[in-house]
Amino acid sequence: MPTSHDVRLPLDRSPRFPDRCVRCGMPEPGHTWRHAARSVGLSWLFPLALGRRVAVDVPACHACEEKLSAQRLRRRLVDFALVAAGVAVAITLLDGASTPWRRVLGFASALVFVLPAIVHHTLFPPPYDLTVGSDHVDHEFADPLYARDVSHLNR
Ligand SMILES: [Zn+2]
Repeated sequence: MPTSHDVRLPLDRSPRFPDRCVRCGMPEPGHTWRHAARSVGLSWLFPLALGRRVAVDVPACHACEEKLSAQRLRRRLVDFALVAAGVAVAITLLDGASTPWRRVLGFASALVFVLPAIVHHTLFPPPYDLTVGSDHVDHEFADPLYARDVSHLNR
């Protein structure tokens, strides 16, 4: 089952990457793609939420840079739409309900809508993504060989 291949590095360490495009593998792309993430769990949904921001410049050829940016935007829009749909359905279904389980049911409804996106992200990871923790950054690669090379370069 394809999942991302992660390389965990300390938060204060700049990662070193092999000199080839993270998406297509073209050697010496002479270009990078900037990807950033925040440490707060739902910051992708609420861009104004506070959290430590980490930006990484990953080698990518010009053609792939545009595709990576478009893919990232598409994923964020789909995620936002699914969460909004889940919340809207929960509000509609639970309107006027007086059950003590109201919050749990609302959360479960939103989760039902978000679950397909989580499964899709797991089965079809982007070429590069990052997750920021309290003291580390997980650099996530779709290509296991690229991840292996990053791991070796950052020992
Ligand atoms: Zn490329």
